Amino acid sequence: MTMLHIYNPATGELLTEMLSDDAASVAAKTRLARAAQPAWAATPLAERKACIARFRTLLAEQVESLAATLTSEVGKPIRQSRNEINGLLGRIDFFLDQVEPSIATETVFSEGGMTEQIGHEPLGVIANISAWNYPYFVGGNVFVPALLTGNAVLYKPSEFAVLTGMHIARLLHDAGLPADLFVALIGAGEVGTALLAQKIDGVFFTGSYATGARIAAAVGPRMIKLQLELGGKDPSYVCDNADPRVAAESLADGAMYNTGQSCCSVERIYVHERIHDKFVDAFVETVKGFKLGDPMDESTYIGAITRAPQLDVLEKQVADATAKGATLKCGGKRIARSGNWFEPTVLTGVDHSMELMREESFGPIIGIQKVASDAQAVGLMNDTRYGLTAGVYTPDEARARVLLAQLNAGTVYWNCCDRVSPRLPWSGVGDSGIGLTLSTYGIQTFTRPKAWHLRRS
Ligand code: NAD
Repeated sequence: MTMLHIYNPATGELLTEMLSDDAASVAAKTRLARAAQPAWAATPLAERKACIARFRTLLAEQVESLAATLTSEVGKPIRQSRNEINGLLGRIDFFLDQVEPSIATETVFSEGGMTEQIGHEPLGVIANISAWNYPYFVGGNVFVPALLTGNAVLYKPSEFAVLTGMHIARLLHDAGLPADLFVALIGAGEVGTALLAQKIDGVFFTGSYATGARIAAAVGPRMIKLQLELGGKDPSYVCDNADPRVAAESLADGAMYNTGQSCCSVERIYVHERIHDKFVDAFVETVKGFKLGDPMDESTYIGAITRAPQLDVLEKQVADATAKGATLKCGGKRIARSGNWFEPTVLTGVDHSMELMREESFGPIIGIQKVASDAQAVGLMNDTRYGLTAGVYTPDEARARVLLAQLNAGTVYWNCCDRVSPRLPWSGVGDSGIGLTLSTYGIQTFTRPKAWHLRRS
């Protein structure tokens, strides 16, 4: 077993260390989960729901301490940590409300003595391999509906959000969930690899394209369910008739919230040439007003960069863009203080020859490109290998709908951005992944539809 070191990215301090799982412990935990799952699947839905409802109560009671832990290990501003946990409460409410109708047996045909029904059976034992940037959201989108629908969950939190992962496991067990039904596996990528080698019935992954592609290659021949929620390079277009200040304030928040480390952060902005300059002025002014600093401070809006190597990515994107002619309007470099810090950065005069406009930045930096028409904006927005979200700002709903219909993305926004709803499916196009979570589809996805042909003799 190797030792996992957990650092505070805002200070560089070692928070704690703990032993990782290894191949043998992963195999043993998988066997226990396999043995526990049938009894859970046979437990009445009302009891499964009661257990998740108790988990919700415990989360709500402990928001303050859970938020402090999350902030300490990922550097997220404390208000945003609290928002995330409170947001999960709303998602749990949706799942509790919708699980019963979503998995009820459906009679789709009945004539003479013949009846046809669709049943929904749990997949069995699933792997939930999770990212660090929103551990409550991306984890909860999987383990809550998976448990409600009768599955056992082998949960591998990110090695950068492992304390939060342990709290989630503790609260589920305190809520009365049998210990072997939800098992946290501690460690980095090699523990994920060991998990994928087990006899499991589905893999639900949230993380980078590079890891997702590796997992797809490993899991493909196994013929088990595979869902991959990956990165993005999400664009937004501000039309010539939009209010430049309102759009700028909304998009600055969409680009910089969570220090730009959201899968659906706004990562590219296109602005019609008629309002481009006004938009840029308002955008830069808004960004300069964001307070960067101690993530435990209530007034902090920009926190630390969670993973140190991302500082190099950000620095290289800025250098590449400025070398190719972009203008740096603010920020542009790492900040010399303990921990991982990068200045909120705005670049204009950018184009698609630059890495900044092609590859996920995952930090507080953004490129703004001037465009001459709606058609040019649509062409540029779709010029990407990703397709998670895309948005349009204009007061004209008909124009927005025409534009949004042309965008290759799982989610589209009119006059908003960086928004996720439990009622709507969350999915990606292209290298943003396959499968979906959330909505009633995101409940059914943890079940196998079974076709029943019943003839009364
Ligand atoms: P990552 O790919 O580095 O790690 C994700 C998880 O995979 C971690 O738990 C990690 O330990 C594990 N892992 C690493 N190598 C593995 C392997 N070979 N086999 C199995 N597991 C392995 O991603 P990250 O840095 O944690 O997260 C950031 C990325 O996640 C960004 O690209 C972001 O856009 C994406 N993301 C997507 C969504 C979405 O809903 N589409 C949501 C959040 C984050």
